[in-house]
Amino acid sequence: MHGDRVVVVDAPSGSLPVDADAIVTIAARTPVAVLGADCALVGLASPEGPVAVAHAGWRGALAGVLERTVEQMRLLGAVEVVAALGPCIHPECYEFGEADLDRVAGRFGDEVRATASTGRPALDLPRVVERSLARVGVARPTALAGCTACGGPWYSHRARGEVARHALVVWREEQGPA
Ligand SMILES: [Zn+2]
Repeated sequence: MHGDRVVVVDAPSGSLPVDADAIVTIAARTPVAVLGADCALVGLASPEGPVAVAHAGWRGALAGVLERTVEQMRLLGAVEVVAALGPCIHPECYEFGEADLDRVAGRFGDEVRATASTGRPALDLPRVVERSLARVGVARPTALAGCTACGGPWYSHRARGEVARHALVVWREEQGPA
């Protein structure tokens, strides 16, 4: 949706269509997933129990979807939160318009500005994720994968117009402290 809506689920519910960009749960054995092709897919977990997935393109990041997701985890008892970043488009492949780049840099700092392999201005989406999570006390995410546009077996809407999507799935094995 490229917004900031976060939903909480408390039990497995099959394939639930959700008009949101993030899902949080504290229930065990209740996998939550997000789909994407270039946007950042972020997995979050806490030893206190809550886990989450979030889909963050630049619009969602600007809307605060990652901060909202972590805030919701904290409402469910999370203290320590760790993050993992799945496949997403990286700056070498992500030419970005100057006006939009100014908007994103205005919120997350000039360190999100980058240069594409073409030499044109680019957005560093992994850095946007890192800066966004840092605002809510989450350390730099572990990188699980590289660039969707030029590396690995990932789908890319931007580079190849692919309509398929890859998924990032997170779940808790058991109730109680992980
Ligand atoms: Zn690339």
